[in-house]
Amino acid sequence: MGAFTRQLGCIKRVLQHSQVRYSSSHHHVCVIGSGPAGFYAAQHLLKLRSTSQKPLQLDMFEKLPVPFGLVRYGVAPDHPEVKNVINTFTSVLKNKNVRFVGNIQAGQHVTLQQLVNAYHAIILCYGATSDRLLNLPNEHLITSAREFVGWYNGLPANANLPVNLKSCNTALIMGHGNVALDIARILLTSESSLQGTDIAEYALKELKSSGIKKVLIVGRRGVLQVAFTIKEFREMVKLPNVGWDIQTEDVISDSTLEALPRARKRLTSLILDSRKTNQSSSPDKSWTLKFLRSPEKVEKVGDSIHVTFRINKMEGEKAVPTDKVETIPCDIAFRSIGYKGTRLFHDLPFDEATGVIPNNHGKVVDGIYTCGWAGQGPRGVILSTMQNAFDVAKTVSHDLDGSEGSSVKQGFESLNITHRVTHYDDYVKIAEFESKTGNKLTSIDEMMRVCDRT
Ligand code: FAD
Ligand code: NAP
Repeated sequence: MGAFTRQLGCIKRVLQHSQVRYSSSHHHVCVIGSGPAGFYAAQHLLKLRSTSQKPLQLDMFEKLPVPFGLVRYGVAPDHPEVKNVINTFTSVLKNKNVRFVGNIQAGQHVTLQQLVNAYHAIILCYGATSDRLLNLPNEHLITSAREFVGWYNGLPANANLPVNLKSCNTALIMGHGNVALDIARILLTSESSLQGTDIAEYALKELKSSGIKKVLIVGRRGVLQVAFTIKEFREMVKLPNVGWDIQTEDVISDSTLEALPRARKRLTSLILDSRKTNQSSSPDKSWTLKFLRSPEKVEKVGDSIHVTFRINKMEGEKAVPTDKVETIPCDIAFRSIGYKGTRLFHDLPFDEATGVIPNNHGKVVDGIYTCGWAGQGPRGVILSTMQNAFDVAKTVSHDLDGSEGSSVKQGFESLNITHRVTHYDDYVKIAEFESKTGNKLTSIDEMMRVCDRT
């Protein structure tokens, strides 16, 4: 019997347990996770159910005391305009049919069985809380991009990450995605430009004393395959007093360029043109883009880290190893090769290899749905996450229409949660405190103390 079939058997038993049939005054729905997927699913579901006979009560569970997921803890502090989505999300929180329940970790404080008993529909939007790995010996010498991003954004779990930039000159970033460019930009941006943003206070202090002058961004494939986007690349070539070196011998013919989809064509042209306009002045700091290199070996040599790369050649879209290698020394190395989802409930199907909850257009099994990075994998921007969440909300709404006469569910009250959770008014206290002090709270204890002040 396959692993998924066994897992499905398990979840069917959980669901059977809750099949008591009589009518309920509300449709109780919960969303697990308060990132963009959770908020957009909630927003759309509220809209779709606004004319239905049975009112919707929506509970949004979040493991942290505060909402917004990667908008608060991932999006770079120098991208405040992206964080404006918080205004839309706040209007969802203020809806009288929505209850935010923070400081509650699904899978730990509440089981799947409890949720199934309490809700007509459960939407799993808990993102991707782990890393894709290189699976190399000594990988512990490499800093996780996810943890570093959490560190500079003040994520409580990463606030104590040991980061010492003072003694560093060269940083090496593995991966050619937008997270890699976020990290490169933060390392090369002057500390004064980050002042006044929501960067963690300790991170700003560390960046102020940083010795980093050189950032190498190394990808395993070619110019045509980079995963970052044009806006983020453009920001790199516009960094004040920062030079660059784009090390590619790729010759891309005009006909190849012409045949590319529009966005890829514009990005490729910009990369190639930037190669020609390499800065001639002697800038304070610089970044280098290197291609066709797969990390193969990581070593500690004195105080430095040496990463040995296998040099690849491209065959179509595939990187094929050659017999050549290159060793690059650095003072700090980052693995920025993508996030990875983790299993939350042992009694729900989960694909360990991809880190995704298997689903059919968002539906996992009857009454259980997923959207955002938990169901789609760790890719896509806020806009694409929104589109996916809207689609899944539509499916949930359709299924709620067909569930008239289904079992009585009583939502949050029936869960018997006894520990101190946070609600919207607690979040408001935290937000007001942060706005008054100009500093993000970076520990859960501090946040809870602020919540409990009268
Ligand atoms: P998340 O935002 O990760 O939200 C998941 C939520 O679930 C979190 O709040 C988490 O705390 C919570 N959670 C986890 N486990 C549990 C649990 N057990 N119980 C309860 N709650 C739980 N997109 C853009 O458009 N522009 C950008 O500038 C941009 N910058 C980015 C920068 C970085 C570093 C990263 C990684 C991504 C960025 N993105 C950006 C992409 C964007 O952040 C994602 O598309 C989006 O956040 C995915 O939403 P999500 O709700 O699926 O996941
Ligand atoms: P990503 O876009 O998937 O990029 C991952 C990079 O790592 C790719 O270059 C990939 O190369 C490489 N890689 C993967 N496995 C590797 C391995 N084993 N060895 C070497 N290299 C490997 O991931 P991300 O940068 O974490 O971003 C995640 C999502 O968030 C993306 O959709 C991104 O656009 C979004 N995001 C957006 C913004 C923004 O809008 N400003 C900012 C940050 C993140 P291959 O292509 O060869 O696999």
